[in-house]
Amino acid sequence: MARNLDPKCAQCRRAGVKLFLKGERCNSAKCAMVKRNYPPGVHGVKGRGKLTSYGEQLAEKQKAKRIFGILEKQFKKYYHQAARMKGEAGDNLLRLLEMRLDNVVYRLGFAESRVQARQMVSHGLLEVNGKKVDISSFQVKIGDQITLRSKSQKSKLFSNIEEKLSKAQVPSWLALEAKSLSGKILDYPKKDEMESTFDPQIVIEFYSR
Ligand code: SF4
Repeated sequence: MARNLDPKCAQCRRAGVKLFLKGERCNSAKCAMVKRNYPPGVHGVKGRGKLTSYGEQLAEKQKAKRIFGILEKQFKKYYHQAARMKGEAGDNLLRLLEMRLDNVVYRLGFAESRVQARQMVSHGLLEVNGKKVDISSFQVKIGDQITLRSKSQKSKLFSNIEEKLSKAQVPSWLALEAKSLSGKILDYPKKDEMESTFDPQIVIEFYSR
């Protein structure tokens, strides 16, 4: 599975915003965006120069890719798919990203970050409607049931699962069933509950130039 191997905190520093790629550390004083809020590299400390409109669009697209941990080729496919769907392309793009299996595992609170959720899915620790699914980009549908496989419950990744789930702030389009370590897709993601760190419309404008 191809993935972005750049150091995670450097990705945030380059984006100029917290992308929450490291779970609990992101909310602590150890976060690199608290200690070194400037771009990485020798010239970074001088701060961020003014961007052209192309540069702003490019930066927004890069930010979106980093948040969801997606490489260019696949991200561009999402753009094409979103542009073909009915309705606002920006909203469609965000919905496609939110309904990836790794994102849903993160939103349900099984993982501290999308990075960790992707790891769980690719290690085959989860099932959808009773069948193992190890493709992190798998698109869930309304009515789907996501469950932690009984074999997986011994994994180190779930050693503190009860604590993780008790802290989970699950959006209203999902239902967490903590006792059975599962969750259900109730609806499409609500606009005000989707990722808001980037503007999907600017991403669409970047690709439509
Ligand atoms: Fe980004 Fe988290 Fe690193 Fe902070 S700790 S810079 S939010 S990945």
